[in-house]
Order: sequence, then structure tokens, then C-alpha cells
Amino acid sequence: MLCVEPVVVYSPDYDLSLWGIERLHPFDGRKFSRAWRETHRVIGDTLARRTIRPPRPAERHELLAIHTEEYLNKLRSPRYLAQVIELPVLAALPMRLLESRVLKPMRLAVMGTMMAAREALRHGVAVNIAGGYHHASREKGEGFCVYADINIAIETLRRSGELIAGQDKVLIIDLDAHQGNGHERISAGDPDIFIFDIYNRDIFPQDREARARIDRAVPLSSGADDETYIGQLRRHLPAVIRAASGAKIALYIAGTDIYERDLLGGLCVSPEGIRARDRIVLEALIAAEIPVAMLTGGGYSRESYRHIANSLCYIFEKWV
Ligand SMILES: [Zn+2]
Repeated sequence: MLCVEPVVVYSPDYDLSLWGIERLHPFDGRKFSRAWRETHRVIGDTLARRTIRPPRPAERHELLAIHTEEYLNKLRSPRYLAQVIELPVLAALPMRLLESRVLKPMRLAVMGTMMAAREALRHGVAVNIAGGYHHASREKGEGFCVYADINIAIETLRRSGELIAGQDKVLIIDLDAHQGNGHERISAGDPDIFIFDIYNRDIFPQDREARARIDRAVPLSSGADDETYIGQLRRHLPAVIRAASGAKIALYIAGTDIYERDLLGGLCVSPEGIRARDRIVLEALIAAEIPVAMLTGGGYSRESYRHIANSLCYIFEKWV
């Protein structure tokens, strides 16, 4: 039996703040601290006792486990970074500021994903209240994703010997509204990684080449509601769990941009639907004895933090 003692990875320094400029993007830069505080309001100090804080941002040598030198150097350009973050106004800011207010918090979240993956192996379930940058590939950032935290975490576990390449299966369950083209591109030629992706086919990134790498793809159309979404999840998940049977770890990108009022996701899933999705996925993985690191992924509405908190509360009610 898999022993489940949930761990939360979080830092108040995950928040992105650029004196209000960030509000030009539908992303809530403070959703990380809001999600933790909302969960704390409901759960109380048990959350604090089970929360660990990344001690430092991921370092260059850790990022190089996946990214190229050329790409990391390119990130020193405000113009390039503004394009990746999809916020053109950032191009006018000094790099020093972008480094401390944007890149550093993101590298802290990468560290958080690395820690969540390691904690999942020990404690069954770990949640990083950030990360899930699933559009970032080895030599390119896009769609608000700069660093490929998912694959960096997998590679880090391989380098430390906690996962054995060529032997230990890894399952990526990507239920963010967008197709996870970054980790799909990075995982090309890596037979240990099994990818399950349910996404809205009508929105960004429409990456056909990356789609070919998905082991089980469930493309949905804009407007898919609870019935369709949960119905498809229930239909495909058992086969995914069977195919990935014996997987050493699952990384679950629980993007809340499937929410009906999300400004970018285009789907029509209710708050109850989001909670049901997370419950179904986590319970299926735990029943199959697959440890899981959950990442919060995308979420572009003022209520995103509430959906994250809902699922965290569920985890604590169920397993603590
Ligand atoms: Zn997304």
C-alpha cells in the first residue's frame, strides 16, 4: 500500500508583482499566495505544518539539465522575455527588474516542482502551488512558460538515482486547458514517459508535431462542459493507468483554466467540475499506487486561486 502523507510546496515569493503592469495580462500574479491563504483559512495550521518552502531558486546547472545555453542566454533580453510572457510592455523594462520580479520567482517555482516530485516519492502526494510550465521546450519559451519545470524535475530525479532511466516509467497527466506542447517536444524519444493530455483543440498552441508524441490525446472543442469533460476523463483514465501501470511517479498538471469563466481556456467546466477532476485523478493514481506531484498550471481568472484551494482542501480532508 502506498503511504499517503500530503506535502505542500509553496513560497510567498512565488507571486509575480510589477506594480500593477501584470494586470494587463489575465493571469493573477498573486494567485499563489491567495491559494495558500484561502486553504489555510479552511484547514488551519495543519497546512502550515505540511508546507515546505523552496530554499532557493533553481540554479543554472539545474536548468541546463533540459535547456540549452543559447536559450538561457536569450532570456537576458527583455524583448524576448516579453514575447514569452505575452506582455509586450515588459520589453521596455530593465533586465535587472525582470530578473528579480519575473524570472527569479519562476525559478523558485521550478525548485518547487523539483521538491514536489521528490516529496511525492516519499509521501505519496505532493502539491507545488505553482509550476506546470508545459509550453516551455528545450530551446524555446512561449505561452507564459519560461522554464520546463516538469522535465527538469524528472531529469533531476534521474541524476540523483531516484528514478532510473530506461527502467522507471513516468506518467505525465496534463489536464490544463492548453495542449502541453513543451513537455511533449522534450519527451520525444524518451520511451519511459507516458503522456495523457486532455486539451481544447481550438486554442493555443495547436502544435501538431508535439501532438504526435501524446500517448493518449483527448482533444475537446471550445465550450465542453462538466458532462463532456468529466465523461471523457472517466472514459480514458482507466486505460491510461493500465498503460502506465507500475509507473514510479506521475506529474499532474492541474491547470484551472478549464474553468467556465477563464479568459483563455475556452472550456466550460464549473468549480465543482474542477474539484471532481482533481479528485478522480488523485484517487485513481493512489489506488494504482502511483505517487503524484501535482502542479497548478494555467488559470486566467480572478477565481483561479479558489479552485486551487478547493482541491488542496479536498486533499487534506481525504488524506490528513
Ligand atoms: Zn493553460
